[in-house]
Amino acid sequence: MDTQPIRTQVLIVGGGPVGLALSLELGSRGIHCCVIEQNERLGASQAPRSKMLNVRSMTHVRRWGLVDEIRRATPLPPKYPSDIIYATRLTGPEFARFENAFSTNRAGDDRFPDGAAWIPQYRNEDVFRDAAARMPSVTVMMGTRLLTFTQTQQQVEATIATAKGSQVVRADYIVGADGARSTVRSLAGIVMDEIPSASTKMSNISALIHAPGLSKLHKLGPAIIYHVVNGEVSAGMGPFDDGDRWFINAHPPHWSGDLANFDLVAYTRAVIGAPVPIEVLYKSTWAPRALLARNYSQGRVFLVGDASQVRPPTGGYGMNLGVCDAADLGWKLAATLQGWGGPGLLATYELERKPVHHRVLREALENYGFVDAIRNSRISLDDLELPGSAGAEARARLGALTREQKEREYHTLGVVLGDQYLGSPLVAAEPGSPPRQQFRDYIPSSYPGCLAPHLWISAGQSLYDLFGPGFTLIVVDRHGTDQPAFTAAAARLRIPLTIVELEAAAARDLYPTTLTLIRPDQHVAWRGNAPPEDLEGLLNKVRGGAATELESPKRVAVGGSHELV
Ligand SMILES: Cc1cc2nc3c(=O)[nH]c(=O)nc-3n(C[C@H](O)[C@H](O)[C@H](O)COP(=O)(O)OP(=O)(O)OC[C@H]3O[C@@H](n4cnc5c(N)ncnc54)[C@H](O)[C@@H]3O)c2cc1C
Repeated sequence: MDTQPIRTQVLIVGGGPVGLALSLELGSRGIHCCVIEQNERLGASQAPRSKMLNVRSMTHVRRWGLVDEIRRATPLPPKYPSDIIYATRLTGPEFARFENAFSTNRAGDDRFPDGAAWIPQYRNEDVFRDAAARMPSVTVMMGTRLLTFTQTQQQVEATIATAKGSQVVRADYIVGADGARSTVRSLAGIVMDEIPSASTKMSNISALIHAPGLSKLHKLGPAIIYHVVNGEVSAGMGPFDDGDRWFINAHPPHWSGDLANFDLVAYTRAVIGAPVPIEVLYKSTWAPRALLARNYSQGRVFLVGDASQVRPPTGGYGMNLGVCDAADLGWKLAATLQGWGGPGLLATYELERKPVHHRVLREALENYGFVDAIRNSRISLDDLELPGSAGAEARARLGALTREQKEREYHTLGVVLGDQYLGSPLVAAEPGSPPRQQFRDYIPSSYPGCLAPHLWISAGQSLYDLFGPGFTLIVVDRHGTDQPAFTAAAARLRIPLTIVELEAAAARDLYPTTLTLIRPDQHVAWRGNAPPEDLEGLLNKVRGGAATELESPKRVAVGGSHELV
């Protein structure tokens, strides 16, 4: 054992997308953290898992300054349409189509600054890992595994295995970003609870194939996913990477689950409808389970991403939920370590994220239920490929069912941007009703708890770009307001505060009150037309209670605004 312990503020176990996202959030706030990942880079031939950073994840990617890098790492060309097509075979007739699925179009919707990015998970991880390695306060250790840890009231002491032997790491906090089979979770004795679902027994095959010439073979036109349904086979597939590497997610009807004896090449050829050359690069099975950790923390231990929640991939929520967990926990850990977060701040991580996970897990299960809906519909799948009007009629009926049921999965901004931290101790309750949470539609609102509504300040400059790393006070039509009171109170409490002034004409619809206080994660903490009587009480509430250890503030100029750190 190396006798010199490593000292860091946060030990992150797991260098998947979520652990790396947490390191970016902490590193961008100057917090020292160490990411340990047991594997070396697996690159392009690993499991084709997440294919998309959704629009909410992209708001964080933008804060970390990585939008251009993510776009450059995206294999499909910028104008490639993000359509999802349903057909009887890849070479057969289409019966339903969804355009701009997952809001991947890069322009045209002002409710968010950046469209979703269609990018293989390993490339996304590459961008995150490279960016984390560039941050002075972040250390990424590949080929390093957590063996065990203990915690006291003051710190965590972990033993890790590196190529050179075992090593002790001392940290203020340890975060399990170590996936569905989390070692951190089991060492902490935290169990997972299952959300029961009718579909969970169904087995699926996830595979990565190389099929030279496949993109040019079919006549359906470019799309990100082609779902194939007929009486013989059922699968979703799509171009995943350069060079005609495609993912396929097959759900063979009446399959025993025995992958070793399953002829995946023959099955994939049946999905395509042509005897094309196919090389299987990777294959595994999975079942659509929905699980939630009973607790997300225990003392100085926290769980993020798949370590805290597992759900079916339908809707593409998995990795994105984890990225948002990292953003939420990241600012709270940083504020606590920097001394301006209150004593109750870290406890709100579970309070805020668990209801979001619940909602999204139910949504993912609902989406997954479509597989059953098709199987249980009275549409005979054998009829889909009949010649003439009988086939056309069956396809029209299945097309109508598909459009009705799947709209909710592919156009789902209400789920992606509609998180509301109502009832959180960090959010000032307001009389009246919050906006109704919807699955499909997202109606921006500055009601406390909601995501701060987005607007463009000028070409390419988003309102979000003006927000500071701490809290931000939006002042609409500053004339006559008592905004300096906020600045002074925040300075007294050592809370970083950035002031953003907006013209009434541009902002009143989205920000109807004169003052709106935004949290570091872009959610609204409070709004009003004047500071409340107990302004310090409000600020103590939104930072998790009165902080005890305070550092000296210093004033920093940021563009036209200013902040206290
Ligand atoms: C078939 C399939 C399709 C999917 N499709 C989508 C999709 O379309 N969209 C989406 O958003 N998500 C999708 N997902 C889910 C997505 O892949 C996960 O949600 C995501 O990878 C979770 O990231 P994570 O960082 O929490 O965990 P992981 O990606 O599992 O990373 C955990 C890391 O921790 C490391 N680790 C574990 N134990 C230790 C230890 N003791 N010491 C050190 N390191 C350790 C592991 O090696 C691993 O690299 C899909 C998943 C599957 C299986």
